[in-house]
Amino acid sequence: MQCCGCGAVARDKTPGDLDGIRIDCPHCGIYEVSGTVLDRFLRLTLPERAEVLARAKQRAAPGAMPLVDARCV
Ligand SMILES: [Zn+2]
Repeated sequence: MQCCGCGAVARDKTPGDLDGIRIDCPHCGIYEVSGTVLDRFLRLTLPERAEVLARAKQRAAPGAMPLVDARCV
């Protein structure tokens, strides 16, 4: 699959019970996008998505997986 943040080839790590997606990207690292904002997030341009992802990373606790949700989109 393609990374939502940078468009590179990335791995889909989404567990079956997750509402959203989990992506493991060689450039962006591993992160999740909440199902509630997924549609909105994917309609953004790639530079906008990279910005949103950067915000999610800033918000994440040290060592925690960044989560793109309604607070960053
Ligand atoms: Zn990426």
